[in-house]
Amino acid sequence: MGTGHNATCCRKLRKINKNMPTYEYQCEACEEYFTKFLSIPNMNQPTEEACPNCGEIRVQKVMFTAPTIGDAVRLRIRRPDNGFKEVLQKIHERTPGSTLKNNSSYI
Ligand SMILES: [Zn+2]
Repeated sequence: MGTGHNATCCRKLRKINKNMPTYEYQCEACEEYFTKFLSIPNMNQPTEEACPNCGEIRVQKVMFTAPTIGDAVRLRIRRPDNGFKEVLQKIHERTPGSTLKNNSSYI
């Protein structure tokens, strides 16, 4: 009598430990996103640690209501950045200037 409360508590705890929640963090210094598997009592731990990318201790926990929103935000931030770098690299590869000019002057 009155001990049903304890049983549900134990079941909840076991479920949490089995499925370790993942948390998203973002560094304010370099804007790098990273994910950590942490138990709930440790979820703020990465905000006190150095960023794995640049070493700054400016990591913020990112709160997302749904995982799809998180992915969309991350892709929107990352895709143009990588695409832009690729384009720049291609332009750079295509226009080294010297080899093209040398070839045409030989012909
Ligand atoms: Zn960083």
